Amino acid sequence: MRLVLVGPPGAGKGTQAQFLSSHYLIPHISTGDIFRANLKEGTALGLQAKSFMDSGNLVPDSVTNEMVKDRLTKDDLANGFLLDGFPRNVLQAEVLRAVLSEKKTPLDAVLELAVDSAEIILRLSGRRICRNCGKAWHVEYEKPADAEKCDTCGGELYQREDDKEEVIKHRLDVYQEQTAPIVAFYRTEGLLITIAASGSVSDITERAISALSRVH
Ligand code: AMP
Repeated sequence: MRLVLVGPPGAGKGTQAQFLSSHYLIPHISTGDIFRANLKEGTALGLQAKSFMDSGNLVPDSVTNEMVKDRLTKDDLANGFLLDGFPRNVLQAEVLRAVLSEKKTPLDAVLELAVDSAEIILRLSGRRICRNCGKAWHVEYEKPADAEKCDTCGGELYQREDDKEEVIKHRLDVYQEQTAPIVAFYRTEGLLITIAASGSVSDITERAISALSRVH
């Protein structure tokens, strides 16, 4: 299964990607996670990406495309992959199509998680992440016992710089202007499947698997 997840920030791509990647036994490739890991390790790539990420803008295509092309050469992709957060504009979608077409491994489907902007602002502004294990909590919807600590591993919780309200609004604008056009791109390619991304996490996963079972 070669799959792309698309949807606005806060649609739950990361959460669904974890479940879908264990269901289909395919690696979860999140460009946001790769950038954040590089930032944490202080690599040159992380430093290059930081200012764009903190302000809610896209990291330049030259940097992102090279990083993804490199990831797609790794040999853990025999069963396929689940891309989360890439592509994020039409140029990236074209680069991906070219890379996969050269390897004769085209995408099977693009799953769009649809959710409205008011809900996104509520979800993201309350999100808190564990600095240690990366798990996402929510100040109202998924409260840890201690507001400052992860229930799973005891790590310190923090709010992503780009989950502050002004930045969220900007990320939504960036999504509308740059990423939403890829939905039309994939519809034209006959790859798009859209599901409603509201309700419980497990309901959404079930909806996704059932929609994907019709293509695979
Ligand atoms: P995410 O965790 O997917 O919301 O990504 C966090 C941030 O990483 C984004 O706001 C961008 O700054 C950067 N980023 C992630 N994926 C991409 C991409 N495909 N193209 C450009 N920037 C990206």
